Amino acid sequence: PLYADYLQSHIRTVPDWPQAGVMFRDITPLLQNPKTFRLLVDTFVHRYMDEKLDMVAGVDARGFILGAVVAYELNLGFVPIRKKGKLPFLTVAEEYELEYGSATVEIHTDAVKAGDRVLLIDDLVATGGTMLAAAKLLGRLGATVVEAAAIVDLPELGGSKLIADNHLPLFTICDFA
Ligand code: IMP
Repeated sequence: PLYADYLQSHIRTVPDWPQAGVMFRDITPLLQNPKTFRLLVDTFVHRYMDEKLDMVAGVDARGFILGAVVAYELNLGFVPIRKKGKLPFLTVAEEYELEYGSATVEIHTDAVKAGDRVLLIDDLVATGGTMLAAAKLLGRLGATVVEAAAIVDLPELGGSKLIADNHLPLFTICDFA
């Protein structure tokens, strides 16, 4: 997309965080700078404004920041997909594998309706487990995930390929090889 390199230049790499050997891609500078924050949000709004979407779903926690603003700008509602144990009402849950152990994401059962066209947003795709689990939740409620979207893809971790293999459309602004 337009401005991809400019946006990427505002992502900070923090070596050895949260553990040795990890290069953490930190998007907080993109949000902190008013010019890149606006371009970032507008990149998603521009892509989806004619898609006749019904809802935006964002993934805990950085997906909330981006997803809520994109939803607002598209005149849509926003629903959170949260880590286990945070949502107060009836939920459905999906467990997925991490490098060490597993994680669970949940959504309220009334968050979307069968047939809804939903945009799914998170900040980053690594192994793809989080995005796929979130998409499965929406699918179990009968919604169609029109696209999964993130700022960053880490293709070497295989997530974007796994997502493609699962026939989920994916849009990312930039990647770090
Ligand atoms: P995955 O499930 O392995 O694809 O990991 C993606 C999830 O972990 C997303 O919700 C990200 O917020 C988070 N994550 C993993 N690595 C990074 C990183 O380098 N920067 C920011 N978030 C990350």
